[in-house]
Amino acid sequence: MLDKIKDALSKAFEGAAHWFRRCAGADELGLWTLGAGVALIVLGRLTRAGWLTVPAAALYLLAIYRMLSHDVTRRREENRRFKQFTGRCGVAVSQWFNRVKNTRKYKYFRCPQCGARLRMPRGLGEKTVTCSRCGRSFRKKA
Ligand SMILES: [Zn+2]
Repeated sequence: MLDKIKDALSKAFEGAAHWFRRCAGADELGLWTLGAGVALIVLGRLTRAGWLTVPAAALYLLAIYRMLSHDVTRRREENRRFKQFTGRCGVAVSQWFNRVKNTRKYKYFRCPQCGARLRMPRGLGEKTVTCSRCGRSFRKKA
């Protein structure tokens, strides 16, 4: 009797282990989803907006669904696109911080033809600027 129970439990654990090995697991998108859920809970507590627990719970469920999903290819593609997006956001944020940091040293402006961001040291007076992207020349005062 005890051996039968042991065998049944062993088979159940093996089955569960096999099932969990096929799961996609945690990735960056999953962790960010959980983090956003926690942020919503904290924000809901601070602002006494209890309804924020609903989208937070939805984010938790989405994160759990993604971690337990067996469609690993699709989950990896979603994570790759998420990382690509956050990479672009990170570059944009770091460029913005650089512009704010150096705003006393440089005058920042855009090329009137192609829209490229350009800069020139402040205090030079009016100069002819040549865009490094499209090659257009124009006068600019800094
Ligand atoms: Zn240009």
